[in-house]
Amino acid sequence: MSRVLLIGSINMDLVVEADSFPRQGETLFGHRFATYPGGKGANQAVAAARLGAAVSLIACLGKDAFGDQLLAGLKAEGIDTRWISRVDQATGMASITLAGGDNAIMVVPGANHALQPAQLDAAEQAFIDADVVLAQLEVPLATVEHAAMLAARHGKPFILNPAPAQSLPESLQQQVSLLTPNEYELAIALASQQPWQQLLSSRPAGIVMTQGSQGASYADAQGSLQQIAGFPVLAVDSTGAGDTFNGALAAFWPLGLAEAVRCANAAAALSVTKQGAQSGMPTLTELQYFLE
Ligand code: ADP
Repeated sequence: MSRVLLIGSINMDLVVEADSFPRQGETLFGHRFATYPGGKGANQAVAAARLGAAVSLIACLGKDAFGDQLLAGLKAEGIDTRWISRVDQATGMASITLAGGDNAIMVVPGANHALQPAQLDAAEQAFIDADVVLAQLEVPLATVEHAAMLAARHGKPFILNPAPAQSLPESLQQQVSLLTPNEYELAIALASQQPWQQLLSSRPAGIVMTQGSQGASYADAQGSLQQIAGFPVLAVDSTGAGDTFNGALAAFWPLGLAEAVRCANAAAALSVTKQGAQSGMPTLTELQYFLE
């Protein structure tokens, strides 16, 4: 099992269920309200930790009640939180309204945007201690670029999940060991309209593209396209599937790309069989049982 260093966001998701969405100026009663820990950085950290990896997370939380609650949750998962800073901004949050089978979401990054390159410099030891470094795009791009540079300085592989979709500077593309987009994110990240098969083949073992229920595809080191079918499962909630896939990929990185993708595909399939992002993430025992 690997030592995984995560750089990314932590959010509290505030979910309201209602009959309809309020119009501008309108006040409605909702049926139900619940809070769920989220944010791609935290989600991927939890996914990797459940699968037995030693996980450290570099991130920012506000000095507020959500920050306290989220920090306690990460510690309870066994995640090393010593590189998480508390800052004078509200903890990141997503306000989610569910009505009539549809959703409306407002994300306020808050403290996540306070994660600056200097915080990574202060945590350089974490890069030295890691086997693999994993980041996403919910924190400032300059911070992601700095993480890629520090990973390279210490000879550590750098996995980038380019979500939410954003075009990547050429210099950053060159420092990424493995890019893990879905099909939409791939085209935007590389600013290319070429068919995905061509994009994957142009970067042997450099891109793993997730494809929802269809599984995942990548080009192996010889440049041959490998299409790994999705596991047939009863999907209940696909929230956090991509995060489970990425956390698992990092956790199983020492096993080599083919085996890491196989395990990530299985862990992510398991995650969609349960409600919620983090609550659906499997443990190593659950994954082993599923793969037997
Ligand atoms: P994202 O939500 O980031 O777009 P995907 O929808 O591609 O990510 O899902 C990530 C991974 O989760 C897939 O590569 C696959 O392994 C797994 N997955 C997602 N949905 C399903 C499903 N319905 N059945 C089986 N596996 C799934």
